[in-house]
Amino acid sequence: MNDYDAIVVGAGNAGLTAAATLQRAGVRTLLLERHNVPGGCGTSFRRGRFEFEVALHQLSGVGVDGQPMSLREGLFTQLGIEDKLEFVQEHDLYRAVVPGELDVTLPADWDGAIAALEDQFPGNRDRVAKFFDLLKTITFWQIAAMRGMPAEQIDPVLFRYGLRSVRSVLDEFFDDDRIKLALGMYWTYLGQPPSKLLFQDLALTLFAYLEFKPWHVRGGSQAMSTAILDSFLGAGGEVRFNTGVAAILAQDGRVLGVRLDDGTEITAPEVVSNASLPTTYGMLRGIDLPDAVRTDLASRRIGVSGFVLHMGLDATPAELGFTTSTTFVNRDTDDDRTYESWRSLEAARGICVSSYDVAPIGFAPSGATHVSLMTLQYADIWRGIDPADYARAKFAYAETLLDLCETVTPGIRDAIEEVDVATPLTMMRYLGHPGGAIYGYDQDAAEGWLFRNSERETHVPGLHLAGSWAGIGGFQPTLEAGARVARRLLRRTAA
Ligand SMILES: Cc1cc2nc3c(=O)[nH]c(=O)nc-3n(C[C@H](O)[C@H](O)[C@H](O)COP(=O)(O)OP(=O)(O)OC[C@H]3O[C@@H](n4cnc5c(N)ncnc54)[C@H](O)[C@@H]3O)c2cc1C
Repeated sequence: MNDYDAIVVGAGNAGLTAAATLQRAGVRTLLLERHNVPGGCGTSFRRGRFEFEVALHQLSGVGVDGQPMSLREGLFTQLGIEDKLEFVQEHDLYRAVVPGELDVTLPADWDGAIAALEDQFPGNRDRVAKFFDLLKTITFWQIAAMRGMPAEQIDPVLFRYGLRSVRSVLDEFFDDDRIKLALGMYWTYLGQPPSKLLFQDLALTLFAYLEFKPWHVRGGSQAMSTAILDSFLGAGGEVRFNTGVAAILAQDGRVLGVRLDDGTEITAPEVVSNASLPTTYGMLRGIDLPDAVRTDLASRRIGVSGFVLHMGLDATPAELGFTTSTTFVNRDTDDDRTYESWRSLEAARGICVSSYDVAPIGFAPSGATHVSLMTLQYADIWRGIDPADYARAKFAYAETLLDLCETVTPGIRDAIEEVDVATPLTMMRYLGHPGGAIYGYDQDAAEGWLFRNSERETHVPGLHLAGSWAGIGGFQPTLEAGARVARRLLRRTAA
């Protein structure tokens, strides 16, 4: 008799939704998490009188009243938590700024975004409208293809445009680099510059936020993680925090259970891993790593991590000069150079500024503001820093993010009451992922859903992969991935 029917390793988004989906279907599930709180990236922490959101800048997949989207209407309803979460709408996509060159705010609304761009760059209305039409068409056919529509039934426009780089499509539509920058700004959420990012990936992201709006959650992403955990526990699930898994055990060609850091062994015929792929396969014992897995892992690149300056500010968003929840500030329009700078400690060239009190999520006391400044970064540069120099280096680098922020909110330094800084090493420490990668592998063309599907086939019976490393990173994709993997497991075991 096995100790459990299933074990889930890791309580990030995908681990949580996998565990809750399994347990609610009657599968006796044990959830094991190395950290002391649920959520992985989806968490928060306290400094002084502020709570700091760790990761969630803009949640997709919620949708508006009368047009709910897959998270609100689907997953959260299935888990019985739709009424336990309060979603806070951001009315703008973002403000995009290049000091002295560009300052445009795009409303989260197709017509509003066209009007805002026409206002700043007269004579481009038709081009932007046509670009948005293409974006909607590409998204429609991409979703049809993802859902399994045969290639011969897909409109060839998807193949003509979807696999081209964002840069080449923007170049086809626009002459002015500033419009290209304003429309391509979400590349920093996807971790690849417009010269490498597939147009279909940007199209899906822009479509998701323009059609279904960007959202925050009251109580932050931690509220979401806690609600999913409660759904799991309410169905009879069992969780152990401060409990790392050291090995995934196999025997006779299939999974047998796990061994914890303290040596305890727990049996279950199904193990779902929310840990990274290199960690998961590296933990396998009692079975040779299948060649297909070895070849696959050797061809992939560890993705980008992040550097975040969290601040509690003793002033209101209006006093500080914030007009939108999300502001992107770039030093110039050279995105390739900005991407290259993620491998160095040169002064930050582009930041995402999240002001969590323009549409308050409840983390700052009245009259105060919680703001985070973030740039993506690869971990290698931090690994080389002498531990004795680490604190100085991280605060020195954080100053460069503040310098960029001061171009839109002059005097913000004077309002600082609390600060904390997270580097890629912080992400590594709290997530246990190689490179502290926050979206899994680099999300370039070779990682696209057309070419790889690590989630569907592990080549090890009883082992299942759920999360950013097995598919697409980000909140909505990983929340949905966990439930999808659990449903597939349920179908297989029922068959
Ligand atoms: C600063 C930051 C900003 C971000 N901004 C956004 C955003 O605005 N929008 C968006 O969509 N996405 C954003 N992301 C990305 C998004 O948060 C992640 O892609 C997503 O949350 C990853 O979820 P996951 O299910 O893959 O699990 P993860 O969050 O990666 O969690 C994995 C969990 O597994 C646990 N674990 C690992 N190994 C073991 C082990 N051996 N034993 C036990 N437990 C283990 C870890 O402790 C962790 O809790 C951001 C991320 C960060 C860090």
